[in-house]
Amino acid sequence: MIPSILPTYSRAPLSFVKGEGSWLIEADGSRYLDLGAGIAVNVLGHANPALVDALTHQAQTLWHVSNLYNIPQQQALADRLVEATFADTVFFTNSGTEACELAVKMARKYWYEKGQPERTEIITFDGSFHGRSSAGIAAAGSEKMVKGFGPLLPGFVHLPFGDHDALRAATTQTTAAILIEPVQGEGGIRVVPDQCLKGLRDLCDTHGILLIFDEVQCGMGRTGKLFAHEWAGVTPDIMMVAKGIGGGFPLGAVLATEAAASGMVAGTHGSTYGGNPLACAVGCAVMDIVATDAFLDGVNRRAGLLRQKLEGLVASHPQVFESVRGAGLMLGLKCRALNSDVVKAGYAAHVLTVPAADNVVRLLPPLNITEDEIAEAIARLDKAASALDQANT
Ligand SMILES: *Cc1c(COP(=O)(O)O)cnc(C)c1O
Repeated sequence: MIPSILPTYSRAPLSFVKGEGSWLIEADGSRYLDLGAGIAVNVLGHANPALVDALTHQAQTLWHVSNLYNIPQQQALADRLVEATFADTVFFTNSGTEACELAVKMARKYWYEKGQPERTEIITFDGSFHGRSSAGIAAAGSEKMVKGFGPLLPGFVHLPFGDHDALRAATTQTTAAILIEPVQGEGGIRVVPDQCLKGLRDLCDTHGILLIFDEVQCGMGRTGKLFAHEWAGVTPDIMMVAKGIGGGFPLGAVLATEAAASGMVAGTHGSTYGGNPLACAVGCAVMDIVATDAFLDGVNRRAGLLRQKLEGLVASHPQVFESVRGAGLMLGLKCRALNSDVVKAGYAAHVLTVPAADNVVRLLPPLNITEDEIAEAIARLDKAASALDQANT
């Protein structure tokens, strides 16, 4: 018999009733150190007092009004994002998938309005993840995601990750945009080198193509800059944001330059819930904390410490781990053991991690994880790896 919850997830036998900072707590009181943070969502940990205040204050005032009216919290958050980034304008969504939908529509509308409606193709890369809508799965194109769900939304060209010749060959008079995650998340924490992001920007400028960055996972302070592309010193024309921006409340956004967004006039797009007062009040509170030099300096310091300790962990368990990769607090342990076994051994040691493709275990802790908690995380990961070492001898 089918379970009452559609069984699209194979869930771990864990169930949390409470969160406190970097910790998740079960009904019997057992505590787990959370290095997954709801998959890069809880950037300020669980039940952060500033976010709880922002949400409860807004909840007592006004939950929802339609986008038929002005929403001051939405205006405030849009102004903050425009001020802090390359963008001139923002549309709010409830998720990363919805941000992907708009990014695709915006890129195509841009060329349509320019009188080149044949430019509809969007170039994407193997191992990418852009959400689970029809456009999202067509964009990523992996067999695992698309099989059985055809006919797929046409107009996506999939290229091998890092193949510069293939990229040049695929860039034609029908190319509308290039869509890329500056750091692949689901694909196994694969960092696109700064040089390559610069090269992509140059290629797009040469051909007038739009550059879309998907920073749903790597954005909002995760890599130690507010957005990951800032490390490379280039900017996109369109950017997708979600996950961390709501700190755990559903919120996403598409940021764009005035030129890229020029086709999106009244009536071309909309959302009932997108940019509602509750989500945007929390988003503003997240920005107040995360979009400051002091906070991002702290992320870089903690990231350096965690990475250094992870290198030590890998060196002590060569049967289990191969290497550390990633940027900031978006780190991956490339495994020799099965990554799912490493995640499971973590459960037994009460530390939560997230598997990714390419046999990688992801570490995406709250960005305000403490140094003591980093030490505790390493102790627990070491315990998990020792259990696997033992199982293999
Ligand atoms: C999670 C994710 C998405 C999809 O976001 P949802 O909020 O799950 O719809 C899109 N792109 C990237 C890079 C992601 O990590």
